[in-house]
Amino acid sequence: MFSNKESFKSAFLEKLETMYGKSFKDSALRDQYNTLGHMVREYISSRWIATNEKNRTENNKQMYYLSIEFLLGRLLGSNLLNLGILDVCREGLDELGINLDELEENEADAGLGNGGLGRLAACFLDSLASLDLPGHGCGIRYKHGLFDQKIVDGYQVELPEQWLRHGNVWELRRHDQAVEVGFWGQIEASTANGRLEFRHTKAETIMAVPYDIPVVGYETNTVNTLRLWNAEPVPFPPNNKNVLVYKRETEAVSEFLYPDDTHDEGKILRLKQQYFLVSASLQNIIRLHRERNGSLRNLHEKVAIHINDTHPVLAIPELMRILLDEEKMDWDEAWNITVHTISYTNHTTLSEALEKWPTHIFQPLLPRIFMIVEEINERFCRELWNKYTYDWKRIEDMAIIAHGLVKMAHLAIVGSHSVNGVAHIHTEILKQREMHLFHEFYPEKFNNKTNGITHRRWLLKANPQLSKLLCETIGTEWIENPAKLQALSHYKQDAAFQEKFYEVKQFRKELLAKRIEEQTGIRIDTHSLFDVQVKRLHAYKRQLLNVLHIMYLYNRLKEDSSFTIQPRTFIFGAKASPGYYYAKKIIKLINELAEKVNHDPQTNAFLKVIFLENYRVSLAEEIFPAADVSEQISTASKEASGTGNMKFMMNGALTVGTLDGANVEIREEVGAENIFIFGLTAEEVSNYYQNGGYRSADYYHHDWRIKKAVDQLVNGFFPDAGDEFEAIYDSLLIQNDEYFVLRDFAPYIDVQEKIGRAYQNRNYWLDMSISNVAQSGFFTSDRTISQYAKGIWNINPVQVVR
Ligand SMILES: *Cc1c(COP(=O)(O)O)cnc(C)c1O
Repeated sequence: MFSNKESFKSAFLEKLETMYGKSFKDSALRDQYNTLGHMVREYISSRWIATNEKNRTENNKQMYYLSIEFLLGRLLGSNLLNLGILDVCREGLDELGINLDELEENEADAGLGNGGLGRLAACFLDSLASLDLPGHGCGIRYKHGLFDQKIVDGYQVELPEQWLRHGNVWELRRHDQAVEVGFWGQIEASTANGRLEFRHTKAETIMAVPYDIPVVGYETNTVNTLRLWNAEPVPFPPNNKNVLVYKRETEAVSEFLYPDDTHDEGKILRLKQQYFLVSASLQNIIRLHRERNGSLRNLHEKVAIHINDTHPVLAIPELMRILLDEEKMDWDEAWNITVHTISYTNHTTLSEALEKWPTHIFQPLLPRIFMIVEEINERFCRELWNKYTYDWKRIEDMAIIAHGLVKMAHLAIVGSHSVNGVAHIHTEILKQREMHLFHEFYPEKFNNKTNGITHRRWLLKANPQLSKLLCETIGTEWIENPAKLQALSHYKQDAAFQEKFYEVKQFRKELLAKRIEEQTGIRIDTHSLFDVQVKRLHAYKRQLLNVLHIMYLYNRLKEDSSFTIQPRTFIFGAKASPGYYYAKKIIKLINELAEKVNHDPQTNAFLKVIFLENYRVSLAEEIFPAADVSEQISTASKEASGTGNMKFMMNGALTVGTLDGANVEIREEVGAENIFIFGLTAEEVSNYYQNGGYRSADYYHHDWRIKKAVDQLVNGFFPDAGDEFEAIYDSLLIQNDEYFVLRDFAPYIDVQEKIGRAYQNRNYWLDMSISNVAQSGFFTSDRTISQYAKGIWNINPVQVVR
């Protein structure tokens, strides 16, 4: 049905009529979207079956990627692309008078994640399938993903996201594979055959029902599975609990994604979600393994389980529980299997993000799991004692349970065979600072896997214009192997190529400008430099530094009519966690600044500030291809990797950034001459924290540019703001500027000035921009996933034939 336009068109029309009982001319866009979606899913199904069949019969090692978030975005376009039927569909639909891009907008943007961590999981799924690797996702089918953001009077307002409102064509409910998960209750001990045994009684049981989403590889038959668990009541409420209360509490488990990025909420419902994900996934993994192998003795040879951050770390005690209580193994054998099955990625060293659960919450909710964690802790502390006898302080610092708290990262390190960071500098900081005691004890466990992004979504699909130009210039090899993008560097000074490259960027800037005008009513100059910062709003990401720089430029333009700059459009996109007061103030500040700057005729030709509401995957796909400058200005050492930085680079934006996260490796790949680095290094930041010596007030008093902009936060410069921004002012001066915004302010102004001048030399700029695309191949998640497959999971490609 997808072999040519004509057969596609007739199949499409027939399917639409049978699905909706109406003729094409009476159908709505949503009907048409659903029709195409169903056709594609049917088309996928034979490959999906073949993949599962192959995995079953060959009994090859499988990897399961457990993640509390999967930030998938829309699937229609990427499925069509990966199946190689994008063009035939686009052309066939065109002839029916349907625009595929418009059709796509009828798909909800699946936002089951906060930001980088969840998007990484989604990129990994795409790479696993595209590399024919047997790797599957396990997650939660949240009824409401990350909130929709509206801006009202400059303030963020959160609305519940409703991605399932019109159904989801990609999912299949698998009621036959539902499992039960138990909370609360009591543990009864007994002795059988001289062995202590434990039984969980009076548990409150809920049902986990899987919904499967096919994960289609690029130009291959492999279709892996993303299994999302839905929480539902069992037919009869356990323990004679009130039916309505039970139903409400059960459904709450998969109702909402917690909207906190890099912040630990510590709410009991969150712990319930974590155990729900882990227990359902493990029961399922083990059932499959048993069907294929009969015994669990070889589990670690046939199964790898990866935990994306500590949220699924209960996989460790849950696997122990199954092996001990159900399989009746002895502790040592169970522990050996568990450690060799599980691997862990650390995503942050921010202390406010490290999960620590009070035992008084943990124990009653998960009584048997808690017992097992206690025993893991006791055995681990005994081991420490043997090596570090009388070193009480060290043992206390490394313990899994201490001072009434369960430290999830410690459990993850002790219970897995591999601990990886997500960029070189991040892994080094883990080894030398945050986790140095563990690194000393288990040096062999630590390794680095620098993050990546799928170039299929973020270049091929998001930027078809650039992709086409690349194929015309260097051939198509780069699609299979993005390292081949390097061939582009031969053309970086080729005038004819530069011109075409420029036209593509210009075209994408015009598209974005159109979107901006639709959404904000503001018309922007598409020849201005598009300077973009899109990411979650967080103090450490320093959107404030960007804002203060814009205020400085505005002040200069106002003071001195002979002062001119390269015209710029500053574009922001960012959601703030609903409870993050300070972050919300920054959103208000950006919007107040936009209001002021965009309506000032004196500066209008030079400066525009845009806040695009509801930053999400589908909007990101429109933004990255249109960017000239990528803002990656976190306080050095705070951003573990970043992945937005890679999406920008791949689309030819130049990075202005600190030596933080993967920016360091971007500089290595592209060369120091093609990136704009400024500010404190991680080491300098660390020295300030350790030795003191930073006084933000000194920078404020000694640099009039800083003083003026900072004063404007509170002196009536923003006419309607009142004391709105006092908290921001205080963070800089009263609380001594924890993130070194004022310390890095002058270097930032300098480097931005350099960027403005560089942009005015078009050939020079294009040379740098082309070099960025040419050197971006390293950051494909295919490279990352190959490294995980070989270095951690020990899984191999499986060719699926149909
Ligand atoms: C890539 C991406 C992120 C991560 O961006 P960073 O700049 O690395 O923090 C967050 N949200 C969305 C929608 C993304 O696509």
